[in-house]
Amino acid sequence: MGQKTLKQLRDARYYRNHVDHVRARARAYYHENYNSLSTKKKARTRAQKERAIRAYGGRCACCGERTIEFLTIDHANGDGAEHRRRVGRGRHLYADIEARGFPQDAGYQVLCFNCNIALGFYGYCPHHPQRRRHHDRRPRANIGRPRRLAEAKGSPAIDHEDVLFVRRASK
Ligand SMILES: [Zn+2]
Ligand SMILES: [Zn+2]
Repeated sequence: MGQKTLKQLRDARYYRNHVDHVRARARAYYHENYNSLSTKKKARTRAQKERAIRAYGGRCACCGERTIEFLTIDHANGDGAEHRRRVGRGRHLYADIEARGFPQDAGYQVLCFNCNIALGFYGYCPHHPQRRRHHDRRPRANIGRPRRLAEAKGSPAIDHEDVLFVRRASK
C-alpha cells in the first residue's frame, strides 16, 4: 500500500466517528440487494467453473458427461480435502486453480458427481470397475488432545518443543 489519499483519510475518520451508522447502512444495503448480489456472485462462480472445466477437458473423464451442472473438479491424487482446507471450496477452489494457471500435472481432472462420489466412496466407479483408486485414508498423525483443552482439564501445560519433537520423531 502506498500513501493514503486525502479522501481515504477522511473516509477512515468518518468511519471511526460513525461506525454504527456506516455498518447499519452496509447491512441494510446487503439485505435489500441480497437477491441481485447473490445472482451476480453465482454468475461469477459459474464463469470460473466453466473456465476450469474447459481447462481440464470439459467432460467427465469416466463417463463423458458434458453437462456443466453435473461436473466437478476431481483431485485424483486424493489431496482434495487438504486443498479445500487450505483455499476454501467452490469458487475459492476454482480461483486458486486458475491463479496457478490450471496446472496439468497436479492430478486434477473433470468428473461428474456420480463418478466422483462412486470413486471416493467405493474406490471404483461401476463404469470402469477395473480402475481402482487407493488412497491412504489414515487420519493425520494424532499427537493427543489439543493444548488448550488439556490445560483446561488441569493437566500440566504441554511444552511446544516436546510437541515438535514428537511430531518429528513420528514421521
Ligand atoms: Zn461421469
Ligand atoms: Zn463413472
